[in-house]
Amino acid sequence: MKRKNVVKPRVPVEVKELITACPGCAAFETIWVRGKTLVPTRKFYQRRGKIYHRCGKRMPCLLFRAWSNADG
Ligand SMILES: [Zn+2]
Repeated sequence: MKRKNVVKPRVPVEVKELITACPGCAAFETIWVRGKTLVPTRKFYQRRGKIYHRCGKRMPCLLFRAWSNADG
């Protein structure tokens, strides 16, 4: 008789919404990070802990907190 694999509950990792400001092209976009990891998008990638815009500029984006879902 086979036992089902026990699925351990994952430790919830907070997903935060951030605003990026690209110093290269002045684009503002919303991104999400899970812990310290960028949730991958078409427009952004992460390297060495910094987030870059895929616009050809090699300057890391500035990050701001998004307050849209602030709870205090
Ligand atoms: Zn850019």
